[in-house]
Amino acid sequence: MTSKIKKIGVLTSGGDSPGMNAAVRAVVRSAEFHKIDCFGIYKGYEGLISDDIKKLNARSVKNIVNKGGTILKSARCLDFKTSEGRLKAKQTLDKYEIDSLVVIGGNGSLEGGKIFEEEHGIKFVGIPGTIDNDLAGTRCSLGYDTALNTATEAIDKIRDTAISHHRLFLVEVMGRDAGFIALNTGLAIGAQEILIPEVNMSSENLINSLKRSKSAGKTSTIVVVAEGDKTGDSVFQLANMIEEKLPKYEVRVSVLGHMQRGGSPSCFDRVIGTQMGITAVESLLNGESRVMIGIQNGKINKTDLSKAIKGKSKINKELLRMSKIMNT
Ligand code: ADP
Repeated sequence: MTSKIKKIGVLTSGGDSPGMNAAVRAVVRSAEFHKIDCFGIYKGYEGLISDDIKKLNARSVKNIVNKGGTILKSARCLDFKTSEGRLKAKQTLDKYEIDSLVVIGGNGSLEGGKIFEEEHGIKFVGIPGTIDNDLAGTRCSLGYDTALNTATEAIDKIRDTAISHHRLFLVEVMGRDAGFIALNTGLAIGAQEILIPEVNMSSENLINSLKRSKSAGKTSTIVVVAEGDKTGDSVFQLANMIEEKLPKYEVRVSVLGHMQRGGSPSCFDRVIGTQMGITAVESLLNGESRVMIGIQNGKINKTDLSKAIKGKSKINKELLRMSKIMNT
């Protein structure tokens, strides 16, 4: 492998996701394997601006593959959105002679890296680290699988109490712009309805579905609602509306919130985190830049960054159809 780069920096940025540590570990160890110095940049792009950087070696990343969160910490850094901030970041990289970056983060983080690459010529490879799964060019992003399992387990527990009290639960899961978590967990837990931003379900249809659930003799009903769904102004307003129209229902709301981001990464996320981290380093060594590493049809692939950011991953509406068959 011919090296066209001198030193690699790695950072995690934006919302954290389980599996980020597996990817950091893979970047650090494969850099060492290929005899390239690797630096950890702390708190996302903020660490580039404030010079919060430490050289890492294979032992620095021991015992982290099973840990949630990110040992490099993450942040949202507004300064990096300005050209002055990015110039400061470039000066910090020059100080350490770092000429290439691996960024593990979501849509915004990869967009920032792309702009930085264009402005300052830093070689840049992105790893999609987000539970939202909203990037094109990869069937799943790092952390998404763990988040699905965490949400499914939590809703299973809610189901236990819903059955005991014959209640209707509205469970809000993460997904401001995308319904991936809602759609898949909804199907997995047997939701009566799944409300997602990509599909407009009228409140009338929702009420009719809940009436059907009651008359079918169901002892508990769960509706999974993505954060970004627009059926109601909020999940609480939706609950009030249902109680007004269907007074026989005792409605409760549960917002799963940040617990969906945490926890030990699943086997799948550890494996793809490792594959993505190694491939990111090897891509840089091959002289590649401005690509996002993803996984498609079981194989690691690379997508041009612009396509990955702008493309938006598409939900599988077939799952919605199947969910309706299941809630007969
Ligand atoms: P995520 O990466 O999870 O989508 P954000 O959208 O908040 O999270 O982005 C994380 C960080 O990436 C921002 O705080 C900022 O530092 C950087 N970033 C996002 N968008 C841009 C942009 N257009 N230009 C430069 N930096 C950006």
